[in-house]
Amino acid sequence: MIDSCGRRINYMRISITDRCDLRCRYCMPEEGIEKVSMSRILTYEEILRICRAAVKIGITRFKITGGEPLVRKGCTGLVREMKKIAGVEQVTLTTNGQQLSGRIEELKEAGIDGINISMDSLREDRYSYITGGGELRKTLEAIDRSIASGISTRINCLLQKQFNEDETADFAAFAFDKGLDVRFIEIMPVGFGNPDEGLSNDDVLKKLKEKHPELEKDERLHGNGPAVYYRLPGTAGAIGLISAMHHSFCSSCNRIRLTSQGLLKPCLCYEDGIDLRPVLAEQESSEEMIKEALREAVMDKPDGHTFFDRAGVETKLMSQIGG
Ligand code: SAM
Ligand code: SF4
Repeated sequence: MIDSCGRRINYMRISITDRCDLRCRYCMPEEGIEKVSMSRILTYEEILRICRAAVKIGITRFKITGGEPLVRKGCTGLVREMKKIAGVEQVTLTTNGQQLSGRIEELKEAGIDGINISMDSLREDRYSYITGGGELRKTLEAIDRSIASGISTRINCLLQKQFNEDETADFAAFAFDKGLDVRFIEIMPVGFGNPDEGLSNDDVLKKLKEKHPELEKDERLHGNGPAVYYRLPGTAGAIGLISAMHHSFCSSCNRIRLTSQGLLKPCLCYEDGIDLRPVLAEQESSEEMIKEALREAVMDKPDGHTFFDRAGVETKLMSQIGG
């Protein structure tokens, strides 16, 4: 479907839970958040109804996210059922990787098309600090297993000044060594994210070019997202830069978001959205009504974010939205 700014919207991020087994400092408070009762969380059947309607308006690529999607029972079953929907082109997952290792085979069997794994440090102590107690070795093991299983595997990394900026080159080496994509994401002012503490991707690229003068722009298609990729000639892995703050890519935005509580969000930046729960709860609710709400969300997409002046900016946490 084409939105009012002429952008083709074909991708939806679906958060299936706002719970998480980690407490990344920029995302969730240490003490966690008040648990939302399961009765307020969309059931998998409701999510599938939304996906069936979405496909009919041209949204054919889906990312399952959270909170941590793997903490919700039955996540693999959802992947399997989504993959059965006629017209679904791609179902991928984003995870912190802590519980992924033992789930790779079932996810592969369910038909997952790709896994993004968030990892902000390659050093155990730092990883544990930033995630509020996560174990790096579990995520590293999951990465190796995911690669070995043949699933398309990517790493997402948030670089922050005075925390992990000195690991830029290590992450690049990790990408080239493992033959996978590592994407550096600029921190956004959502949740506890403070862009002043983040690194601009221009600076990241400068650092990388100092270390690897032969780095070249990689024009191959890497996924659904707005990352700009660079690679070293002769290596399989690539570095992706997702510069949400410093090079807004809103003009090519292709997505809408669905929170675990059923709010359809036209844009990550703003608070507002369309509550799908009343539509889903209606006895007589038809696929047409869901399609109508999805169309409205697409047409409500603003032309860009206002993260810099913070007017009407989202106050929910990233774990509640799905990132
Ligand atoms: N728990 C899963 C994970 O960590 O991949 C999925 C949900 S998490 C909210 C999705 C992504 O959002 C993660 O890569 C995380 O680093 C990113 N994220 C969280 N807060 C952010 C912020 N303020 N700015 C930019 N990215 C953020
Ligand atoms: Fe959990 Fe992901 Fe947020 Fe970290 S970024 S607290 S893993 S939802």
